[in-house]
Amino acid sequence: MGRNAIVTGGTRGIGRAICLALKEKGCTVAATYAGNDEAAAKFKEETGVNVYKWDVGDYEACKAGVADIEAEQGATDILVNNAGITRDGMFHKIGPEQWSQVIRADLDSVFNMSHQVFPGMRDRGFGRIVNIASINGQKGQMGQTNYSAAKAGMIGFTRALAQEGAFKGVTVNAVAPGYIATEMVAAMPEEALKKITAQIPVGRLGEACEIGDCVAFLADDKAGFITGTVLTANGGQYIAA
Ligand code: NDP
Repeated sequence: MGRNAIVTGGTRGIGRAICLALKEKGCTVAATYAGNDEAAAKFKEETGVNVYKWDVGDYEACKAGVADIEAEQGATDILVNNAGITRDGMFHKIGPEQWSQVIRADLDSVFNMSHQVFPGMRDRGFGRIVNIASINGQKGQMGQTNYSAAKAGMIGFTRALAQEGAFKGVTVNAVAPGYIATEMVAAMPEEALKKITAQIPVGRLGEACEIGDCVAFLADDKAGFITGTVLTANGGQYIAA
């Protein structure tokens, strides 16, 4: 494929798998992260992928960060908005800070990053933006009003920008993973994991590489007729209309 890609939150978990899937397709990949230097250095050493640190919730930092990456590897053909956090709590117990931290990192970031690369993609007549949403943005999840709102917002953004980019060769899609066996999920108590797995018709958690493959598919040159879609990868746990 030979395209230039940026994957936000690419140094760990699902983002790491996305970087590897794109690299396998021949892309030049840059991975961003927030602050975990140790994980980022390990990732760079193991994969050879360049890493860049900034907060994707900060518009000016995104502007400067994307400029750095583009000076290094050239104009961006593929952007994967993967970085995200959770700050769970029942609605009556969370405060404005818990709300805005998640909206900022999970949704503002999608604007901040897409805004840097979309005009260039339009001008060049090619672009792929893939947003990593969540099953909980589709169905809503108790204890996650902030996260469910951010991820649902990401899906609305995807559908709207897809219409703006279509005629210029820029596709915009989302992937909505269910429970994926990242470090975070694997660290959950065994009983809780058993309960979750029992709700997944395929009978297991997803693997990060399975999300990586979904992104690589949507980012491919050959996927130019697919735009505005939400590709659900959740083992049948939630089958959206
Ligand atoms: P991880 O917590 O394993 O990794 C998150 C990555 O995002 C890290 O690289 C982290 O950097 C980076 N990041 C977080 N906040 C920021 C920020 N403000 N600025 C820049 N980088 C940031 O996450 P997962 O792999 O589990 O999840 C990846 C995406 O997939 C998220 O959007 C998540 O919501 C979504 N998802 C995950 C599911 C799962 O089961 N794991 C299910 C459904 C959706 P650092 O290492 O420096 O902290």
